[in-house]
Order: sequence, then structure tokens, then C-alpha cells
Amino acid sequence: MRNGLVTSALIAALALVPLGAQTRITPPSNKYTPAQDVELGMQAAAEARQQLPLMRDDAVTSYIERLGKRLEGVIPPNLQQPAFKYSFETVNVRDINAFALPGGPMFVNRGMIEAANSEGEVVGVMAHELSHVLLRHGTAQASKAGKYQMGQIAGAVLGAIIGGTVGQVVAQGTQFGLGASFLRFGREYERQADIMGAQLMARAGYDARDMAAMFRTIEKQGGPSGPEWLSDHPNPGNRSAYIEKEAQALRVSNPVSDRSGFDRVKSHLRSLPKAPSSEEVAKAGAGNRPQPGPTANGRLGPVEPPSSRTREYSEGNIFRISVPSNWRELPGSNAVTFAPEGGYAQEQFTHGVQVGILRNERHELDVATADFIRSMASSNRGLTQRSQSMPTVVAGRRGLQTLMSNVSEATRTAESVLLFTTRMRDGTLFYVISVAPDADFRTYEPVFQQVVRSIKLND
Ligand SMILES: [Zn+2]
Repeated sequence: MRNGLVTSALIAALALVPLGAQTRITPPSNKYTPAQDVELGMQAAAEARQQLPLMRDDAVTSYIERLGKRLEGVIPPNLQQPAFKYSFETVNVRDINAFALPGGPMFVNRGMIEAANSEGEVVGVMAHELSHVLLRHGTAQASKAGKYQMGQIAGAVLGAIIGGTVGQVVAQGTQFGLGASFLRFGREYERQADIMGAQLMARAGYDARDMAAMFRTIEKQGGPSGPEWLSDHPNPGNRSAYIEKEAQALRVSNPVSDRSGFDRVKSHLRSLPKAPSSEEVAKAGAGNRPQPGPTANGRLGPVEPPSSRTREYSEGNIFRISVPSNWRELPGSNAVTFAPEGGYAQEQFTHGVQVGILRNERHELDVATADFIRSMASSNRGLTQRSQSMPTVVAGRRGLQTLMSNVSEATRTAESVLLFTTRMRDGTLFYVISVAPDADFRTYEPVFQQVVRSIKLND
């Protein structure tokens, strides 16, 4: 009897020893409220969405969203922030980078996915980024700097992201140091994000050693100054070693077994045109003007009538839309175009719709619409307004529709342009430009109306 008891106590003790204990992480002190994290992050995210070429390719975006949601679902209770709004978006840029903003918005570069060797590696970077958000490192760092200003921060953050040169932004003046601090962390916070990230990974069903593997991959792929990600997230020293040590102390309770999505996304990415570098994006000043999608690969020719069957697309967490199933999605940096084969070429489309958001000055809908029409007319000399803007319903809310005439630059024939506009909750303009040759407009107009009715905004 007595011997038996001792033995089982010993076995229990032995069973516990190899597991060790996970490292306890204490969030640093912070002068900001979680609500301020959200406000600052939302401002910066809105700018990021305007400036960066987001991927609108559902195969990729929904995959990254799924991984993000998996991590979001395992946030430990003591770090849950009811005010935070997590989002996981993909940027069509080939540089190996990712960043997360206070309060939840995360952006993962296509280049990061392309560099990764496994799903666990992608999750590793995302878990690290999410940990900065959960531990509120951005505003904690701003608190340390002794600054406490809400203005101009978002702009500075964006300067840092877009320019790809956080260092220069910091050097320009101390007021920008605060903004850049959302993205660039010291060794102590890096170590915290690594350890917390490892713990999140294990909870989400991944081996945290994949995170260490990804960091080694990133280090190997660096150019002369290393990838941007590494200068924003410097190696505190012995990174791989302490992540692997933490991984040994963690138990992966429900390992994710189906990781075939990773291979599918990787091969899909290989089939797409190469993404631009962040430098090219910065030079092109994407976001300062509406741009048509990359329709250059198309060729004008015979166009099939719109299919009566529809296909739904989800666009960068911003809206969903259903279009005829024989139209193609042509993502662009600020707008997405849906057009049939034969109906687009060389930055032009002759049939279809272009949907986008214009984040410029906020005005009443009629004023914003008139401004937008003026800007369209300045780049399309043949464009004339055929009638006053009429009230209509766009995406279930109050909108305007405006009929215009144009001479297609591509075909030199008369075309009708029906513009739909409404306001996003934050006051920015949401628009749908629908186009068909005059000869086909009677067929297309009901289709355009149906497409506009199908739109659901997630603002
Ligand atoms: Zn970091």
C-alpha cells in the first residue's frame, strides 16, 4: 500500500518535469487607454489601406484571415481587450515584411508568405505581430517617450511604412519618433513578443519552433541592410535558442493537421504577376489618385453577354460584391475592376464595373460626388455629365447615381458611364463606376443595378 502511493506520486512528479513552465510575460506600463490604441491604430490602418496595394485575391486574403482568426481565437483571457478589432490583410508587395498597429489591424506582405517554407512559419510572424498588439507595445513605447499626443501620429506611422525607411523618419524630428515607435521596438519588447508569440502558436496548434525557423529564413534573405522586418523587430540575441527553449516548455494541444492551404496559396501566388517592391509602390505614389486595375494583360475583343449566374468576391475586409460569373476580378492598388474577357486592356475597360474608395476630404455625399466627377472629367476629356445625380440605394444605404457620356479612349466609340456613390461610415466616398458601350447599355444597365444592390460594406 504505502510503497504504491509513493511510486505514483513519483511518476506524477516525473511527468511534470520535462514540460517545465511557460514564461510569464507582463505587459509594460502604458499611459494610453486601450480605446486610444484602437483609435490610433484605426487612423493608421485607414491610411495604410489607402497607400498600400492590398491584395484583393480571395484565395490569398481569406487564407491569411483564417490564420489570423485562429490566433485571435486563442488569446489568453488576461490579454483579451474587448475594444480591439483584429483584422488580417495582405499587401501585394514583394518585400519580406509584416506589421501590426495598436488595437488590432495587421498587414502581411505577400513577400512574407512567398519567403515562408511552411504554414507554421507564416503563423509564427503573425503570432509575433499579434503579441505586440496584445502587450500594447506601440503605445507603451510612446508612453516611455513621455509624449502624449493623438494628432499626426498616424501620418508618421504611414510615412514609416510607405517609405520603408523608419530610420529616416525618426531622424527627421522627434515628433515623428513617436509615430515610428508603433512599428519599431527595442530588444525587451522583441523578446516579449517572441515568447508570447510562441505561446500563442502552441495554443493555436502550431510548433513554436517554426517561428524560430522563419526568423532564420528572414535573416538569410536580407539584402545589404536586411529586410525591413528585421530593423523594426531586431534580434535581441539568441533568438532561435530562447524560442526553442520556450517551445520545449509548451504543449501543442490540438496540432493543426491540414496545412494543404499553404501549398495551394504558394502555388497560386506563383501564377500571379510578380508583386512590386515597397520602393516601387512609394515612387508610384499609389493611393494619391484613383487608378484602374492592372488590366494591361487583357485584349479588347468580342465580349460575351453578362452571365445570369453570379460569383461573390470579398474585397480586403471592406466589402462583398456579386458580379456575373463570366467577369474577371482585376485587382488594383485602390480599386478593383470586374470585367468580361475582351472588355479590358491597357488600363482601360469597356464593359464592367470598377469599385473603390476615395479617402480624401470628407464632404456631404452630393459635394463629394461632384468633386469626384470633376476629377474623372479632368482625366477623361470626352466625359460629360448627362443628367443631375439622382438619389438611389447603394449597398443598402443612401446613395447617388449619375449618368455620363464618354468616348472610349480604347475604342473611340461612345460609351455610357453610370456612377454610383455612397458614403462609408467614416465619411469617405465609396464608388462604383459602371461602363458599357452605348450600343450595349440597355443590356448592361440592369446588371450594373443588380451588382450595386449586392454590395455589402463592412464599415
Ligand atoms: Zn517584433
